[in-house]
Amino acid sequence: MIDFKLSEEHLMLRDSVKDYVERDIAPKVNEYDKAQKSLYPEVLPKMGELGILGVCIPEKYGGAGFDYIALALVCEELERIDTSLRVIMSVHTALSSCTLWWWASEEQKEKYLIPQAQGEKIGAFGLTEPGCGSDVANLQTRAHQEGDEYVLNGTKQWISMVEVADSFLIFARVGKEKGVKGIACFIVEKELQGVTISVFHNKLGVRAGDTGEIVLQNVRVPAANLLGREAEGFKIAMTALDNGRYTVAAGAVGSIRASLEASKKYCHERKAFGQEIGKFQLIQEHLAFIQAGYDQSQLLVFKAGWLKNQGIENTRETGMAKWQATNYASDAANRAIQIHGAMGFSGDFPLERFWRNARANTILEGTNEIQKLIQGSFILGFRKKPELRCKLPPYKPGE
Ligand SMILES: Cc1cc2nc3c(=O)[nH]c(=O)nc-3n(C[C@H](O)[C@H](O)[C@H](O)COP(=O)(O)OP(=O)(O)OC[C@H]3O[C@@H](n4cnc5c(N)ncnc54)[C@H](O)[C@@H]3O)c2cc1C
Repeated sequence: MIDFKLSEEHLMLRDSVKDYVERDIAPKVNEYDKAQKSLYPEVLPKMGELGILGVCIPEKYGGAGFDYIALALVCEELERIDTSLRVIMSVHTALSSCTLWWWASEEQKEKYLIPQAQGEKIGAFGLTEPGCGSDVANLQTRAHQEGDEYVLNGTKQWISMVEVADSFLIFARVGKEKGVKGIACFIVEKELQGVTISVFHNKLGVRAGDTGEIVLQNVRVPAANLLGREAEGFKIAMTALDNGRYTVAAGAVGSIRASLEASKKYCHERKAFGQEIGKFQLIQEHLAFIQAGYDQSQLLVFKAGWLKNQGIENTRETGMAKWQATNYASDAANRAIQIHGAMGFSGDFPLERFWRNARANTILEGTNEIQKLIQGSFILGFRKKPELRCKLPPYKPGE
């Protein structure tokens, strides 16, 4: 049976997030964006208090014990206000905490996952480097073991939440093995000696969130902080991205809704040739396209979320949701600007911010070209469902 009805708990969670961000964050988000000032120090404590940061992490690991649909609903409400807010869910919750939930030992979960799920510590994700983004297998950061420590050297770039994070999942090359088999993943605390971070300025979008660089110079990481086994880094990164992309897609649904809501309002307010512009059928066509993007993207996200809840492998479906939803969000913001005429071009209205932010989502967590390649390789049978030592944990109510 297919059931599209959201539970009472889903609706309450969605409404509490919506109330919070509409009341406390929406009035100031444009100002933070213009000043390129990070919202994170202000919003993270409250999001932790609301249980949002560990929304889909089981209660036994400090989370709120909701399912993946709940994660999507939170992302939609956050990105409806600003992309930088949804980035928190993608990076801290999906890329970092969910990855620890799936792959970490019980000791690692105790030390890192529980404080993250409770919002006491913040996790981030360091995969991209100056020389490689899409081509993960070519990463150059190196790690070698010395006794009960690994020594890490390298540079990670375009790392979201670099300033507020307490620790990073860092992917590095170990041993002599080339390509994907030579990659390992480490939990690296920011306070370790040899870790230097810096924040990028003048990004096109996501300006109310920090993004930057991590330089690792002879950073000594306890061997106990190796996540999974040495050769499992690539698989860990790919399972992390399956969750991260899901949140990007869900957030894009919120971005489309924001474009739709703003446009609908303006269509009634603005008059031309003696009538509200919403009466013009060419304007209605824009609205119809935005609505189509919303409906289709939300369906793709819910389908991917359903698969995740069952513990069914979902790389293709999640990639499809990410590709389609982020493309639609860009298109929706573009159409919303057109509907608003010159006011859409103005920094006093949020439309140009929606559009700048939407561009980021077609690039981060695997560009949309990469999402298309994923579809092609599954269709043609070049790509098999991965064999994972770690089984995708299905959602278990009450856990
Ligand atoms: C705002 C923002 C936040 C980010 N946050 C993080 C983060 O927290 N952690 C992190 O690790 N990274 C992060 N990233 C980095 C992001 O994941 C990478 O930018 C992305 O994976 C693309 O890599 P690249 O920029 O090196 O592009 P490249 O890989 O150099 O690609 C350049 C172009 O070539 C295309 N291309 C590459 N390979 C192929 C191919 N095989 N076939 C067809 N086309 C191809 C790409 O689609 C793209 O159009 C962030 C990026 C942004 C913009």
